[in-house]
Amino acid sequence: KQRDPDQPEFHQAVEEVLRTLWPFLEENPHYMKAGIIERMVEPERVILFRVPWVDDAGKVHVNRGYRIQMNSAIGPYKGGLRFHPSVNLGVLKFLAFEQVFKNSLTSLPMGGGKGGSDFDPKGKSDNEVMRFCQSFMTELYRHIGHNLDVPAGDIGVGAREIGYMFGQYKRLANEFTSVFTGKGMTYGGSLIRPEATGYGCVYFAEEMLKSVKRRIEGQRVAISGSGNVAQYAAQKVIELGGKVISLSDSGGTVYIEEGMNNDHWHYLMDLKNVRRGRMQEMAEHFGLEFLPGQRPWGLQCDIALPCATQNELDIHDARTLVENGCMCVAEGANMPSTLDAVDLFIEKGILYAPGKASNAGGVAVSGLEMTQNAMRLLWTDGEVDAKLHSIMQQIHAACVNYGMENGRVNYVKGANIAGFVKVADAMLAQGIV
Ligand code: NDP
Repeated sequence: KQRDPDQPEFHQAVEEVLRTLWPFLEENPHYMKAGIIERMVEPERVILFRVPWVDDAGKVHVNRGYRIQMNSAIGPYKGGLRFHPSVNLGVLKFLAFEQVFKNSLTSLPMGGGKGGSDFDPKGKSDNEVMRFCQSFMTELYRHIGHNLDVPAGDIGVGAREIGYMFGQYKRLANEFTSVFTGKGMTYGGSLIRPEATGYGCVYFAEEMLKSVKRRIEGQRVAISGSGNVAQYAAQKVIELGGKVISLSDSGGTVYIEEGMNNDHWHYLMDLKNVRRGRMQEMAEHFGLEFLPGQRPWGLQCDIALPCATQNELDIHDARTLVENGCMCVAEGANMPSTLDAVDLFIEKGILYAPGKASNAGGVAVSGLEMTQNAMRLLWTDGEVDAKLHSIMQQIHAACVNYGMENGRVNYVKGANIAGFVKVADAMLAQGIV
């Protein structure tokens, strides 16, 4: 904290890990002796660069670009790029730190990284977004590679942005390699990658519910966000017979009392991915209630899936959810719950899954995309979905294995220890580097 006082999100992510990891480290002092923690909290490399671009009116803009290469002990750096005005070094370091544990949990050989820019794609034309992406990649291309660092999407970076960045990378590097995941299906993408984070989150929630002999069918599910993760979490919940009662964006929440149906879902996909509109339009179109400026946590629900952004669920929200009878919280977003909210969930015995476990499906299928690219073949959607499902079940089992506490599973502890051990053992084996 003294070294980087202006990085509260990074401190929060590290504190969350260390609180549960500490007793394990005390029992296993060889990790401490080798300085594993001191090394894990320091990125292997940080790249920071200028991204100049010209808007449609001819005006010059300058954004800041970043790539955090956090840890490569178990594989090439892997993690998404985020384009959002709130992006700064501390936010990306928190995301990169989380990514190290998450990627380890998938059991695939991927190290951790994260990057992005404070560029805001909202309200920009396709041409402006393309010029920005090309400028961003003109610098980043020299720092990434299919055996070095493989970026993907995150907030503000979807199929359109990945396409533009991949195109520019290929042009500069003069080769076609698997340097990005989340690619389009015409140029090396994997089936089920767009669905993977949302589906994976619901598969994980299903496993938690199964362990207490419950299921998703018939439950009221509050979802926040309306982007990639929220869209496919909603689709899977509907498929499994649950009732999706909300979606949101930074303008507010749409309340769908009767539960979302397929018409709502198709409208949402067009609204967010093609027209790039706001949730208020969806409420107006279907005559649904809109709660301006509000998050969905005041609604009565059995399951909550926060799928928007960090710290979107605080202690007040957590109390309201518990009072309203919510029994399960599975994070689709990264670190959406504040530390005190997490404490309350655990204290009250809520089935609570931290994002590094429950949203690992996205990067898992990214790993499978790299495998398919390396083999130069394409698996069917059924094959990829079955592998995703099995990985989420394995992550759940790993959390149970390491997280048992007084007859209950503490998924935070389970995920942190299980994710840590593989990376730490690889670092030990590789010496002090
Ligand atoms: P998208 O850009 O597709 O969607 C983001 C959603 O969150 C939008 O509805 C957006 O609303 C909302 N949102 C973003 N920032 C804020 C904010 N500061 N306040 C309120 N609402 C906000 O991103 P994704 O769906 O891909 O990502 C969502 C979360 O899931 C992130 O935490 C991401 O790190 C995490 N994640 C994503 C993975 C993936 O595969 N895509 C993998 C693992 C984790 P608005 O449009 O109004 O800003």
